[in-house]
Amino acid sequence: MSEDFIFDMSSDEFFMQQALREAHRAYAAEEVPIGAVIVKEEKVIARGWNQVETLKDATAHAEMLALTAAQEVIGDWRLEGCTLYVTKEPCPMCAGAIVHCRPDRVVFGCPDAKGGAAGGWINLLDSNPPLNHKCEITSGVMLDECLSIVQTFFREARERKKVEKAERIAQQLRELEDTEGLT
Ligand SMILES: [Zn+2]
Repeated sequence: MSEDFIFDMSSDEFFMQQALREAHRAYAAEEVPIGAVIVKEEKVIARGWNQVETLKDATAHAEMLALTAAQEVIGDWRLEGCTLYVTKEPCPMCAGAIVHCRPDRVVFGCPDAKGGAAGGWINLLDSNPPLNHKCEITSGVMLDECLSIVQTFFREARERKKVEKAERIAQQLRELEDTEGLT
């Protein structure tokens, strides 16, 4: 076997690939495609994908679901020794929850300059005096893949809206023609 076939199963890229698989599950469910996994001792112990629409729960972000699952697996709310991988920079809600759970590291794919809370807009992971915990942050892992699934999702959503609008206008025109036909 050539060296090209050896895949480092402890690398950030390997675990981000796992988070991307979760994002694809969200995409398949017509959710904003964001996925997360939590890793301890080089093993994925918890997974989560964005399920806001599915669960009708605005707090059901991928990170929140993965944190809850990891706490169940470990039997403790302290996620010491854990790394959270997520395809997009965490929002303020998730960053707040992450700091409460105290994982060692947070690794994300695409940054979010507008709403990110790991350095994009604000940085709750690194500067959270009342909570007395800091997470080491790594950003930009598999950035292109993490970004492109979100971009594809929103482009398709816009196209769907355009088609729906065109169909609505066509229907209104038909109704108008019918009405005129009657008079
Ligand atoms: Zn979030």
